[in-house]
Amino acid sequence: MPDMSHGFVGRMREVLDTSAVLIGADIDERYYHDLAGNVAAKPLAVVRPRTTEQVSGLLRLCHQEKVPVTTQGGMTGLVRGGLPNTNEIVLSTERMSAIEEVDTSAGVAVAQAGALLQRIQERVEEEDHIFPLDLGARGSCTFGGNISTNAGGNRVIRYGITRDLILGLEVVTANGTVLHGCENTSRITLGST
Ligand SMILES: Cc1cc2nc3c(=O)[nH]c(=O)nc-3n(C[C@H](O)[C@H](O)[C@H](O)COP(=O)(O)OP(=O)(O)OC[C@H]3O[C@@H](n4cnc5c(N)ncnc54)[C@H](O)[C@@H]3O)c2cc1C
Repeated sequence: MPDMSHGFVGRMREVLDTSAVLIGADIDERYYHDLAGNVAAKPLAVVRPRTTEQVSGLLRLCHQEKVPVTTQGGMTGLVRGGLPNTNEIVLSTERMSAIEEVDTSAGVAVAQAGALLQRIQERVEEEDHIFPLDLGARGSCTFGGNISTNAGGNRVIRYGITRDLILGLEVVTANGTVLHGCENTSRITLGST
């Protein structure tokens, strides 16, 4: 286990920035509680990257040092998937929330992993389109969490499951390798209203 008070935190802050890495009393309870009331061990650190490069650098470092990482979106999953185990680091996508592009001519949108589902819905509705995925947790769940859980939801019979709505992904693997399954971040299909 790395010493969180010294070298490892400093190295994470070199990869990201000081405010991106929370330790000790700065770690809010929401990073180790979920909506169902499940509680986990307080993580060693919470890291909040803004870019793919920062995610890659962080995971490369954790891979080298054999530090386990739990990724968190909106923490609405309810089955403890986003809760850290003892001695883990939390990678929160809360600062990667941009909806980068809405291309109505192609029926495609591009969103970062931490974009809230409801924000994506509202953004494409401004263009008289819909993003068909919808679930009760829409105001809190993230698109990365939707993809990870392959969420179904209220309109799954008509429009399909999350996997059916994805055209491509940019993925960072556990050793920090970036895979470009599309030219940019998550590309998602829209329907017309
Ligand atoms: C009121 C309510 C209604 C719901 N309705 C439905 C429903 O109709 N259908 C349904 O399928 N689910 C439903 N859910 C469950 C939940 O909302 C979904 O599973 C949702 O997709 C989780 O998204 P999240 O951002 O909260 O993910 P989290 O809970 O934060 O994470 C879920 C899992 O995904 C992983 N993960 C998160 N982000 C990433 C990422 N960027 N990269 C890799 N892994 C990641 C986490 O490590 C964890 O294992 C509901 C939940 C609530 C509270």
